[in-house]
Amino acid sequence: MTRIANYCAVCAGSLVNRRISGRIRPHCPNCDRTVYFDPKVAVVVFIECDDRVLLIQRAVEPGKGKWALPAGFVDHDEAPEVAAVRETLEETALQIRIDKLLAVFPKRDRGLADIIIAYSGVALAGEPQAGDDAAAVGWFSRGNLPALVFYPSITLTTLWTKGELDL
Ligand SMILES: [Zn+2]
Repeated sequence: MTRIANYCAVCAGSLVNRRISGRIRPHCPNCDRTVYFDPKVAVVVFIECDDRVLLIQRAVEPGKGKWALPAGFVDHDEAPEVAAVRETLEETALQIRIDKLLAVFPKRDRGLADIIIAYSGVALAGEPQAGDDAAAVGWFSRGNLPALVFYPSITLTTLWTKGELDL
């Protein structure tokens, strides 16, 4: 088990580990409730304009000082495309339209999400301006990319550099 819970969120009873649905899971004997941990879901957006990609410089760890595609967590009651538009607006001040699903990535590095959904987006309005957990924002051409962080951003940008990203 990679995540730990000690107490039941419903009755505050002590949890015990029990094999349920093929895995050891925290279980509350007091109210007969099993704790199912959900994956943390994030979205990331590839926005290209005039053969340049929009990147943000991270203001916080992990990856502080390095650059990545605009990204953020999906709220529990939010559609992922809506989260992608919202996070891009928060980090870059750009209004975008989501074009299509590019990829779904599992967690492969020290990024904070377990599942990362990648979209392509088109800038509709606004001037790029850094906000939220972005220290800077900018458009970068293929031959002039800064130091990147996070597997999805690196993977998508590398494909794009090679002309292999179908936006
Ligand atoms: Zn309980």
